[in-house]
Amino acid sequence: MNDLIQRKKIVAYHKISARHNLAAHFDIYRGKDVLITVDDGDISFYHHLFPLIKAHQVPAILFVITGLVDTKIPFWWDELVYLLGAEEGEKKVWEVKTWPNHERLAYLQQLRDKSSKRPLEQTQLTTEQLQEMQAAGVIIANHSHTHPMFDQCTEDELREEFSRSRQFFEARQLKGYDLFAYPNGNYNPVAERVAKEEGINYAFLFDHKLPNKIFDPYRISRLSVTDQTSARKLHFILSGWHTKLLPFRRKIYNVLHGR
Ligand SMILES: [Zn+2]
Repeated sequence: MNDLIQRKKIVAYHKISARHNLAAHFDIYRGKDVLITVDDGDISFYHHLFPLIKAHQVPAILFVITGLVDTKIPFWWDELVYLLGAEEGEKKVWEVKTWPNHERLAYLQQLRDKSSKRPLEQTQLTTEQLQEMQAAGVIIANHSHTHPMFDQCTEDELREEFSRSRQFFEARQLKGYDLFAYPNGNYNPVAERVAKEEGINYAFLFDHKLPNKIFDPYRISRLSVTDQTSARKLHFILSGWHTKLLPFRRKIYNVLHGR
């Protein structure tokens, strides 16, 4: 597993909303030491990315939210936008990520209870699809059971997330329980300790960085990309120049704004 992860440039996708530039992305990945990771397990992975991964034989990890597989339960952030409308909902998604987990859950339940809309349903991946992808070489890995923010959870909530996803992986002969991507990339010292104690061997962040010189299996950096990232921008991101230019841009901004 170390060979798969260490020294690789790791890109992280989420939902594939259009196929825009994916073919161009795979042309770039060919011959480069890139590991593709995808968070949340949206069904679009199966339809749009999995065929390309199979065809090009690029190493890939799919991080699934185990509580959603084989259900029609929507992603909670999509449900929030559905219940509140796009404009208010999208703002609220960012806000509730900073709330204690139980408050976020209570708020969502309240919205559901008082809404006159039909409950939102989403087609989620099935066990059968996960097993098919695992057999084709995709590593099916752990993105928690319900996708809370791990820096907003109590220790009990964290343990519950890990034990439920562990049961899920064991019951289905899926192998990637010990590879874990923090939802939203959020972590803190308690989350990291509990992850280690609960048998996680590799934890992935969402920090838009190239790999660290010194490899820390509990702080694995990833580069953020989407299907709309142009080939040119992807080259730029993989070169690592964005991490050098961003602080520079910030400095200029601060000088211009007198900070
Ligand atoms: Zn996620």
